[in-house]
Amino acid sequence: MGITEPANNEPLLQNNDTMPYRPFGKTGLMVSALSFGCMRLSENQDLNTRLILKAVELGINYFETTRHYLEGTCQQKTAPGLPADKQGLIVSGKGGINAKTTAYHFRKEIERQLDILGLTHFKFYQVGWFSWALMKHLLKRGGVLDAIRRAQDEGLVHHIGFTGHDSPENFIRCLETGLFDSITIPYNLINRSYEPTIKRAGELGVGVVAMCPVAGGLLDCESELLKKEFGMNLPTVEMALRFVLANPAVSTVCSGMNAMVQLEQNVATVKNFTPDTDTHATLCEALEKMRNILGDKFCTTCRYCMPCPQNVNIPRYMKAYQYWKCFGLKDWARKTVAETPKEQQASHCNDCGECEEKCPNDLPIRERLQELSKL
Ligand code: SF4
Ligand code: SF4
Repeated sequence: MGITEPANNEPLLQNNDTMPYRPFGKTGLMVSALSFGCMRLSENQDLNTRLILKAVELGINYFETTRHYLEGTCQQKTAPGLPADKQGLIVSGKGGINAKTTAYHFRKEIERQLDILGLTHFKFYQVGWFSWALMKHLLKRGGVLDAIRRAQDEGLVHHIGFTGHDSPENFIRCLETGLFDSITIPYNLINRSYEPTIKRAGELGVGVVAMCPVAGGLLDCESELLKKEFGMNLPTVEMALRFVLANPAVSTVCSGMNAMVQLEQNVATVKNFTPDTDTHATLCEALEKMRNILGDKFCTTCRYCMPCPQNVNIPRYMKAYQYWKCFGLKDWARKTVAETPKEQQASHCNDCGECEEKCPNDLPIRERLQELSKL
């Protein structure tokens, strides 16, 4: 395992035999192309410890944590697997803000998380659950930014990122303030809504941590259609990781892992994939083609069709239908139908047609419900 020495920073761990590295925005750090989301660690602490140790051995140098995941136990579950000196690793922390958060509160939260993780400093600390509307609370006198700047002056925090679920446009506004070194954002082949934000981050030299690469497990099922359109005879999970990695503005793909085989497979996927400059455009083109299978008959989850007098969960069914038809995720659609709460199931539909009258996209809702029921 070697060490590189980026400018202005403590060296980061590297294992070039098993892991590629990418620039983390303008920070000078080279981050592992695969990072470890610690929000899915399990109740098996022995396994958690072994997983994190193995991840470090395989060259992962970014671990995403916060005190607030896993009912407050995420960082306790992460810490035992980290090497004693934690040198060369980014173990990020995250704290939320609201109108009442003062510099004092934010500082205390940073110290609390450092304490749990046994760290002397955060190379990255995230402003969590952030949005453009919260910017005024970040910037106010005696507010969060004051705490951050002081923590940076003292060396307790090196870099600042943010994460949240605001609109892509609002996140671009956040990026353009120049306050942040990274953004952590959901991105996968069925949710590309933040693609313009990611592109802008790339232009501004802000590091991008792409989370939810397999859409919370949704892409963990076979899809012949994706294989055909991507021209890759691979498991869907692997294609999903490749898609995210193909985006040149993505610094690292953050996968929430809790099994050894999953870690090893993800590492192998990342190691074996070296996208060229055209890969991202080619894959996006393939996805557009799949998205167009339904033409303009696409559910935008606006929910205007709700409430259904029979309590059918129409948007849930329409989403399942789309992922089946557009991306070939038939098994996922079948599972979604099977797991729909009894009182919301399509079997209650009495064919009244009210939903179709309200749907702005003119979707043949009843026909689709029937097709799904046959699954
Ligand atoms: S009204 Fe139409 S587009 Fe909107 S959620 Fe319902 S089915 Fe989807
Ligand atoms: S047609 Fe079926 S799904 Fe649509 S509103 Fe009527 S009962 Fe609900």
